[in-house]
Amino acid sequence: MQVKVIGAGFSGLVTAYYLVKAGCKVQVVEKSARVGGLIRTLQTPNGPVETAANGIRNSVRLEAMCADIGVPLQSTRRAARARFIFRGRPRRFPLGIPDVLEMGLRFAASATSLRPRPLETISDWGRRVVGEGATDFFLAPVLGGIYAGDPDRLSASLVFGQAVLPDHLQTTRPARPKLHGTVAPPNGMQQLVDGLCDYLDRAGVESVLNHEAKIAAGEPAVVCTSARGAAECLADVAPQLSESLRQVEMMPVVTATCQYDPAAAKLKGFGCLFPRSEGFRARGVLFNECIFAGRGPAHSETWIFGGALDRSIVELSDQELMQLIATERERLYGEHHEAIGIHLTSRPQALPHYSIDLERILTKLPAPPANVALAGNYLGRIGLAKLIERAAFVAKEFPKTL
Ligand SMILES: Cc1cc2nc3c(=O)[nH]c(=O)nc-3n(C[C@H](O)[C@H](O)[C@H](O)COP(=O)(O)OP(=O)(O)OC[C@H]3O[C@@H](n4cnc5c(N)ncnc54)[C@H](O)[C@@H]3O)c2cc1C
Repeated sequence: MQVKVIGAGFSGLVTAYYLVKAGCKVQVVEKSARVGGLIRTLQTPNGPVETAANGIRNSVRLEAMCADIGVPLQSTRRAARARFIFRGRPRRFPLGIPDVLEMGLRFAASATSLRPRPLETISDWGRRVVGEGATDFFLAPVLGGIYAGDPDRLSASLVFGQAVLPDHLQTTRPARPKLHGTVAPPNGMQQLVDGLCDYLDRAGVESVLNHEAKIAAGEPAVVCTSARGAAECLADVAPQLSESLRQVEMMPVVTATCQYDPAAAKLKGFGCLFPRSEGFRARGVLFNECIFAGRGPAHSETWIFGGALDRSIVELSDQELMQLIATERERLYGEHHEAIGIHLTSRPQALPHYSIDLERILTKLPAPPANVALAGNYLGRIGLAKLIERAAFVAKEFPKTL
């Protein structure tokens, strides 16, 4: 039986991998001229530059897949254990004594109802369970850094994986391996994409690039695109589902990887997050060569902007963006350094907003026709480790229904 995988981003490649493992004949169709979707690693003389994910939470399935396709994984460096949140200055522990006391009291008072309520936002859950200080200076910046969402609209149920989703969106939870934490291939995330492509080639999978796929009635297909892409693909065969997916709000993200002389490395750690009230426009900055070995020779920082609360970031010119980074960086370190390389990636529709509106959409999402399954980062799990679980689940269950 041949299954068409629509989209050759990470979800599509991993879905194709598991379908091959399940014994299916697979064709991968990609709209653009390259595979990998959001993920891409540029190799520059000053070190590698990631355009989206820089790492992936390790899991039993990831380890097994990488061993099978011959892609090595490295864990984060010791230095990456330090994580900073800006409160007046970069701090490893941004909460004051009153915040900790409030957190203890609230936590004790809500011990029986830690579980998020349906349609409860992260701000509401946080104020109810951990208090205002811990919400504003820990929860909101940390989740903002992962989801780029608005804490007043981010869905606590979706973020904590507690939303009750329909059967057709079921998946498995990543099992924890011995080496837990974030990992990445030594040459960057592109190495994982390339390893998957090589494996699929060897397995005889046909890949079609530059082709916007449609689904013919009855044709077995797994749609592995963004929500917008899925809405387009499904318009003819599942108009109601397509209409629901069209409502999924997408958010812009701009990343700037800036390379400096190694002496410009002023903080050692994973990175620093900026709570909204601190007046930075950046949501956070990553210290790349502290996270994984081999990311030099330059000191490399990735500044992350945009999300639900800063849609106009994509309107800035490259010059304006570089000026903004110089100003915010000077505020972070109290001194100026000249970048020796800057690589900007601007995406007006980078990520789905994990808002209570998405929770509403997903909990009532109509099932696709029997010949179609969905995979992708808008279905309740945004991280790559969870996209792998969904891909493996679909590849195991979907062929049984055909
Ligand atoms: C800046 C940034 C940093 C991130 N950091 C991390 C991180 O550190 N760790 C982590 O786990 N996750 C991270 N993520 C999230 C992760 O990168 C994404 O969730 C993931 O890459 C999405 O993969 P995907 O295949 O689902 O979607 P996409 O990458 O969007 O791929 C979808 C593909 O489908 C194609 N397509 C669309 N319509 C059609 C059609 N009709 N026919 C054929 N093809 C079509 C598109 O061209 C595209 O190639 C980050 C994301 C961003 C933006």
